[in-house]
Amino acid sequence: MRNQENKFDFLLEQFADIKIMRFQVPGFENLNLRQKKLIYFLSEAAISGRDIIFDQNYKHNLFIRKSLEAIYNSFEGDRSSEPWKLFEVYLKRIWFSNGIHHHYSTDKFYPELSEQEFRQIIKESKSAELPKYEGLDREQLIDKLSKIIFDKNIAAKRVEQSKNKDLVQSSAVNFYENVSQEEVEAFYDAQRDDSDKCPISYGLNSKLIKHNGELEELKYKVDGLYGNAIKKMIHWLEKASEVADSEEQRSYINLLIEYYKSADLRTWDEFSIAWVKDLQSKVDFVHGFIENYGDPLGMKATYESLINFKDDEASKRSQLLSDNAQWFEDHSPIDERFKKDKVEGVSSKVITAAMLAGDCYPATPIGINLPNPDWIRAQHGSKSVTIENITFAYDQASKGNGFLEEFCFSEEEVALENKYGFIADNLHTDMHECLGHGSGKLLKGVSTDVLKNYASPLEEARADLFALYFMLDPKIFELNILPDRKAAEIQYAGYIRNGLLTQLTRIQPGKNVEQAHMRCRKLISEWCYAHGKVDDVISIVKRDSKTFVHVSDYDKLRSLFGELLAEIQRIKSEGDYEAGKEIVEKYGVNVDPELHEEILARYKKLKLAPYSGFVNPIYDLEIQDDEIVDVKVFYDEDFTKQNLRYSKEYSFL
Ligand code: ZN
Repeated sequence: MRNQENKFDFLLEQFADIKIMRFQVPGFENLNLRQKKLIYFLSEAAISGRDIIFDQNYKHNLFIRKSLEAIYNSFEGDRSSEPWKLFEVYLKRIWFSNGIHHHYSTDKFYPELSEQEFRQIIKESKSAELPKYEGLDREQLIDKLSKIIFDKNIAAKRVEQSKNKDLVQSSAVNFYENVSQEEVEAFYDAQRDDSDKCPISYGLNSKLIKHNGELEELKYKVDGLYGNAIKKMIHWLEKASEVADSEEQRSYINLLIEYYKSADLRTWDEFSIAWVKDLQSKVDFVHGFIENYGDPLGMKATYESLINFKDDEASKRSQLLSDNAQWFEDHSPIDERFKKDKVEGVSSKVITAAMLAGDCYPATPIGINLPNPDWIRAQHGSKSVTIENITFAYDQASKGNGFLEEFCFSEEEVALENKYGFIADNLHTDMHECLGHGSGKLLKGVSTDVLKNYASPLEEARADLFALYFMLDPKIFELNILPDRKAAEIQYAGYIRNGLLTQLTRIQPGKNVEQAHMRCRKLISEWCYAHGKVDDVISIVKRDSKTFVHVSDYDKLRSLFGELLAEIQRIKSEGDYEAGKEIVEKYGVNVDPELHEEILARYKKLKLAPYSGFVNPIYDLEIQDDEIVDVKVFYDEDFTKQNLRYSKEYSFL
């Protein structure tokens, strides 16, 4: 029997730069048995792909993970020794990042014990059966393992983005082998058909290799690459199909199964279109090869899955936004030429996550807007979601950790953050995903590609600015979406504080801002600071040699958001690469080393971790006479136990 404690601790543990949390699944008990079974089967399909993401991230990741787990399980030495503790942290970091590269910076990370200590630990794990690999014996396996883990010249970066390198050959990610960037580009350019109104996402679900001098695509499918894991996925998806929410849902689950059998990208598009049109089902899911951030060339997608169900009550708020999407578009402060005459297909809901997997585990997004292909979004719309049980867990875990007290300008600001931070953040995510990204249009003949590497930060800035600008609009209060003007104001203050100060905690000393969302927040905050200077809209204040930011005029700040939105929309609509480059480089990149040092020092004192992830709940079947009579949810598994169990039960590759 399991004991469920009364008080729910959201924060489980902390190591390296990571904190591990857990989330609740409120409302699961109230689902009917069929829906619970559906979530159970989809969740099994989700975790079945776990090994895929490890292998995609780096070709030796599975060998390393399995070896370290074997050592972990059989170590006979002192488990309280310092080297052992450091070994444990290294293994946990691998579980967290789905491999040996940092999940966010993509730099390879290293164990903090020495290679000698590492080898000693293996010696004391005599019974550890290292996985069979490349025909090596035990000694050779240990040498190989140590070399890959400790050698700084091997696989130093998962995703290389420096423009003067061969991005394919200098990235450790396992999407390509024995091919150059030039060969990859030529291979896919030859397939692309620019006149196709429904262009296929070529290369999305395969590895490209050179074999006997010929380029060959190894497709992810049941009788191809990752076949063993995909076979399991199909098994569970077939069960899910039997208990689908509707005929409509059944039909696209079946399309997904067909796609995993054939790897045909036309079928994948058909699936995505059917999926995006289904707005009725209570239970919903993301499952597949979807996001391409892991590929330096932005073509190949990593495996991810998120199983969820709709939070009907909270969705009323986001529904109100999407119902009024046209009003927001019409009243946007951008040039009339860049506005959509008719905003279509914006659907938005608040969901409760039930299971995270692949690239969504353990670090998960808080909002998602899919599908990705522009032509599907334009012709069929997109689904935008806010994952509120995750944002709630974040909010709860952060209460009283000292962060706000350290960085807010005043006690009043701390109190307002505690009171309104959660609802204002959720509203911001809703507006960013469902209104922001969907707003505006390109002038005829302009493609988003022309903004190149500046496209992502500019697009994020556009969505953020749209949300910020309207958050203080009278319409929001007319629609009764926010209880008080103060809620919007505290969002403004928090945004600027983060953009100018606190997001620096996520950057290593000496580095500049690289990640798109961070560039976006810095760009917006720095630009508003510079352009509001005449009126002192934002002031930077020093107290006891600590830096704070203070917003003195929220209405003026709102006008600045509007002005910047108009300019960034112009850049996107006209495809003005030079202006885009200039504004990002000028405001969104460079870090002031002195300020950076101060922020890092203040942050360090709080002993917090800048990155977070979650363990999943456990779903247990209650069976009577071979029939499932109920599914129960439990929250009592810690991070190590969960990963060891997943490795035992879901190692299919
Ligand atoms: Zn976004």
